[in-house]
Amino acid sequence: MQKISISSYLEKYLASNFNTYFYFKGRVALYSILKAMGVNSEDEVILPALTCVVVPNAIKYLEAKPVYVDINPSTYNMDCNQIEKKITCKTKVIIIQNTYGLTSDLDRIIDLAKKHNIYTIEDCCHGFGGTYNGKANGTKADAAFFSTQWNKPFSTGLGGFALINNEILKPKLEIFNNTLSEPSLADKIWLHILLVAKKYLVNNSTYWMMIRLYRYLSKSNLILGSSSGEELESPKMPKDYLKKMSTVQAREGISNLKKFDSLLKLRKKNALVYSRYLKNIGKTYVDEKLFNNHSFLKYPILVNDRESFFIIAEKNRVTLGDWFLSPLHPVRKSFELWDFNDNDYPVAKEIASKVLNLPTDCKDVNRIIDFLENNKEFIL
Ligand SMILES: *Cc1c(COP(=O)(O)O)cnc(C)c1O
Repeated sequence: MQKISISSYLEKYLASNFNTYFYFKGRVALYSILKAMGVNSEDEVILPALTCVVVPNAIKYLEAKPVYVDINPSTYNMDCNQIEKKITCKTKVIIIQNTYGLTSDLDRIIDLAKKHNIYTIEDCCHGFGGTYNGKANGTKADAAFFSTQWNKPFSTGLGGFALINNEILKPKLEIFNNTLSEPSLADKIWLHILLVAKKYLVNNSTYWMMIRLYRYLSKSNLILGSSSGEELESPKMPKDYLKKMSTVQAREGISNLKKFDSLLKLRKKNALVYSRYLKNIGKTYVDEKLFNNHSFLKYPILVNDRESFFIIAEKNRVTLGDWFLSPLHPVRKSFELWDFNDNDYPVAKEIASKVLNLPTDCKDVNRIIDFLENNKEFIL
């Protein structure tokens, strides 16, 4: 375990008993938790059919089988009614996600898991700051993992952490953590360069140009990316995957956490504006009352002719998000490599073909409402 003061901020924020462990990326936190749970080739892990490919990757790296569950269109998370029929005697873990910062019906899933003697892991990569029945996301399941990558609730550049609530897992996780390596000097230099570049070069006008450049360079393995090309090509573990968080990352996180409370307030306020507007014009919106309190990292909307809508948005300098335009974001093909067939999950497939995400961290939400109003024929 790395003792860095980031945990004191988390402690204050989450105000509960926990232990946090810091990693080079959120996916490494997930892998480490699965490892501590003893997941192996005999096991099955249940997860939503609308997720990041790095989630089934971590499962496949342990030779376990990912078992997907279709989503509920009003929560963008697993359809609770469909989980039980996926449980077999091999099921060891259920991964519960909070897509876009929307909370899942945790009590129901955790009760089901307990009944079958199955571990639960909350994927809080979008949900840091949200709560469920008054408890902070991540504090109810056996364990949770969080991402602090560029666009996640608070950023360390790249990075992530695990929160362990089930005491039994702690010694096992700590033993595994001792086998992880420190990020290399090159990693640290790259992170530093990217953090500076983000600060000075990315704004509303350059956002998509810079994102495209970053994705292209990282896919080609020319710079340190969120995902290396190989992670998106097949579920085979890249050779320098198992790393801890570096101090460059921790320092960035501490400074960003200081702004977190006001950012979260802004996100919730903007989400409410979007909800009211969309409800008013009779379009699909997120019900705030559903398992609240959502952290609204992004606000999902459904559109037709997504490509045209996206181009118009870019011209208007509205920085839409493109998370989950595929059920195994951002992979678009060869789903069978991850034991996935999108035809088996019609809701996830449909949502992934129509979803776009509105930013919730903008200071001038009315500009975005004006843009939506002028293009509402696209919105479903
Ligand atoms: C970003 C993300 C991850 C992985 O986080 P990294 O820090 O990029 O490894 C996992 N699950 C979900 C839902 C995510 O959005």
